[in-house]
Amino acid sequence: MKHCISCGGELLKLTDTKFQCTECKREQFNNPKGAVALLLFDTTGKVILSRRAHEPDKDKLDPIGGFIDYGENAETALYRELYEETNLSEADITAPSYVYSGYQEYHWSGTIEPLVAMWFWASLTTDKRLTPQDDVSAFESFQLDDIPTSQLAEPRTIAIIKRAFKRKKQQKNT
Ligand SMILES: [Zn+2]
Repeated sequence: MKHCISCGGELLKLTDTKFQCTECKREQFNNPKGAVALLLFDTTGKVILSRRAHEPDKDKLDPIGGFIDYGENAETALYRELYEETNLSEADITAPSYVYSGYQEYHWSGTIEPLVAMWFWASLTTDKRLTPQDDVSAFESFQLDDIPTSQLAEPRTIAIIKRAFKRKKQQKNT
């Protein structure tokens, strides 16, 4: 963040979050963007991860998901991303349950965007094939112990994936 969104003046960094325009004195905040991630389990209980088709992190593994667009809430964004990336719709999965959120700094085109991703899990209710499209080159299914952590776009998110497996198991036992 370098310039004031109001007058284009130079910004003075006050804290990691707060900036002030040196011209019009308007305060500007470096708040994180919202994103959603979906850990989708197949009918055998494996989690489906996607291979990224493009940079950044091309060929790395990611959950289904992406940024929340203008005007969307988390659920709308989740179902839009599901459709865009897999060609499946809301009717093909169980109601998504919240897992946890992750903070990360997304390096994109020379800038660093802070983002908070809200993670959900759901299970497939159909035997329909997922069709990789949009920014996905392929889908792969894993048991928890078989996930190649170093191939995750964000290796730290393995902790959230573990939680999702645990929640899924707990739900089955209730
Ligand atoms: Zn200004």
